[in-house]
Amino acid sequence: MAEERNAIEIPASEAVEAATEGTVSTGMSQAAPAKAAPVRRYVQPPRLCYFCVERVTIDYKNIDLLRRFVNERARIKPRRQTGTCAKCQRRLSVAIKRARHLGLLPFTAEHVRKYGWGGV
Ligand SMILES: [Zn+2]
Repeated sequence: MAEERNAIEIPASEAVEAATEGTVSTGMSQAAPAKAAPVRRYVQPPRLCYFCVERVTIDYKNIDLLRRFVNERARIKPRRQTGTCAKCQRRLSVAIKRARHLGLLPFTAEHVRKYGWGGV
């Protein structure tokens, strides 16, 4: 049944080749019309680096900005969450660490619990 249908679609010379080989390696024309492309249910939005797009310079003194890239446990958010590019993420992590050293940002969740995000 299936072989008959293929024989109609494929030219005679190719059909003979496919039959003799018995593999699907040359039979790209066989599979193409039968299967439809799978439906993409989730389309990921394009990742844009905030610092590159907005042309914002990363400054350790700009705590309100840095706080957006730190989670509620005071940890630096990964690039996969924020969309920051590698170059900016490196600078961002240095800036956050500088801010922590100066006491502008907390180091740990315990610091957040004790002193909150009030800063300084
Ligand atoms: Zn960037």
